[in-house]
Amino acid sequence: MVVASSNRLAEQARTIPATLRRLEQQAIHDTTRPLLQALQAAGQEAVRLWIRNTSAEQQTPSPSALSRIIDTIRKLLRQAFTGVGAQARRDIERAAFNAAQAAARQAGVIAATASGQPTPPVQPVIGPEAAAAARAVPAAVEEEQSSALALLTAATLTALGLAGINAVFQRARRAVTRIARALAVATTSAAAHATRAIATAIGPTIRLLWVAEPGACPACAAYAGRSVLPGRQFPGGLSLDPARTLFDTPIAGPPRHPHCRCVLIPWSSTWPVDGTPLPTLLRQHARTARRS
Ligand SMILES: [Zn+2]
Repeated sequence: MVVASSNRLAEQARTIPATLRRLEQQAIHDTTRPLLQALQAAGQEAVRLWIRNTSAEQQTPSPSALSRIIDTIRKLLRQAFTGVGAQARRDIERAAFNAAQAAARQAGVIAATASGQPTPPVQPVIGPEAAAAARAVPAAVEEEQSSALALLTAATLTALGLAGINAVFQRARRAVTRIARALAVATTSAAAHATRAIATAIGPTIRLLWVAEPGACPACAAYAGRSVLPGRQFPGGLSLDPARTLFDTPIAGPPRHPHCRCVLIPWSSTWPVDGTPLPTLLRQHARTARRS
């Protein structure tokens, strides 16, 4: 049997966050592009209407023009948001499944390499955290749309003019941020969930080892090289930088925060691996490679 080297395993492990990052960024781009484009077009139309109905002498449109402008912007906003929440939910679920599948495949290869035994096949599922993140998105999108519409009043536009219109669209674009955040949480959660299932399938003594993404924040870097049994939790509140400590509550695994791409891999200290123990390597790497 060829004994695996821990350096090689650490390298392999660090490719999983890179895979997740690519997946997350592509999915965010694809999912949010239609809404961003619709909001941009609507914003341009709103500005055009405003300019057409104002002049150097008349800084604010007449009351009837203003009311028509508001109606038009409201209609454009509603159109831009039509179906967005439901579509985003489906997109997030699909991205989470892709993340679960990719992470499970890579974690399975690492476990097989380290243990010298084939990893039992496990059908990846996204898990409850990813499902909850996706499910919450339609309401979040609806909330940002309502807040944007609430800013669209004759009083605000009269007082602020074009700045008031910009404020409405800035607020509407918060929906994009909410979608992106949910997508990031869902992909990282799904990857961790799928890896947990693999560790459990390999055997009852297999632990979950935290692999920090390259360039991880101090709060995530503090977890690198730590491990727990599936179903157990990592301690809360760890950080390499006391000024950047995150939530004290124990956590089941990544994501430590939105847009965290740390991952778990199955691990046993009894696996016949050559070199510095893998947990030590991961810990050292996170501490030396960390950009602060
Ligand atoms: Zn992280």
